[in-house]
Amino acid sequence: MALLGPPGCGKGTQGAALRERFGSAHVSTGELLRAAVKDGSELGLAAAAVMAEGKLVPDDLVLGLVEEQLNGHGRDNYLLDGFPRTLAQASAFDTASDSGSYELDHVVALDVPEAELVRRLCGRRSCVDCGRSYHLEFRPPSREAVCDACEGTLEQRADDVEESVRARLGIYRDQTAPLLGFYGEKGILNKIDGTGNPSEVTARILEALGG
Ligand code: AMP
Repeated sequence: MALLGPPGCGKGTQGAALRERFGSAHVSTGELLRAAVKDGSELGLAAAAVMAEGKLVPDDLVLGLVEEQLNGHGRDNYLLDGFPRTLAQASAFDTASDSGSYELDHVVALDVPEAELVRRLCGRRSCVDCGRSYHLEFRPPSREAVCDACEGTLEQRADDVEESVRARLGIYRDQTAPLLGFYGEKGILNKIDGTGNPSEVTARILEALGG
């Protein structure tokens, strides 16, 4: 299954719920790339500046990363989160799936209005130590910039500042939204209203997938 949608639409949250429900292996290209940046690996060094500006990492780097993950999992039940993001990635993956076991059964596309996405993304913070997520407006910490769970420092993702958020939304519109047509034609697209509280959205997804 692949989860598609603009930045801030809830792919991370819904991905976690779906993995729990279906026991899928998680392949999040954004998380893998952030880990590579943190480790200072060759891939991380190549990706860091592009990511901070909110632009897309080159297709060949991302495809290599995904393939490595899928081969490593050796599973046939996986959830792709944040991939594919361009038509080139989708068709390369499609071609690879003809010869392997990567075929997508379902694509879930979360739909959230742009003003709501900006609000969600710009207020997002997470703990540098335990990774717990907060939102300045919707789920604020009790003490400013301090994690309630472990007293770690809360940080903002480099690409959640407004300038990068606007760039990421523009790139989504230009490069990722065309995938809705691609998967629509294949008959595997489920468009889901991504507004409201997370458990309502999960329920909509499960209903569309037939439980
Ligand atoms: P995400 O956590 O999915 O919002 O991804 C964060 C950033 O990682 C994106 O803004 C891109 O710079 C990069 N990224 C993640 N997935 C991809 C992908 N499939 N193709 C290209 N760049 C990606």
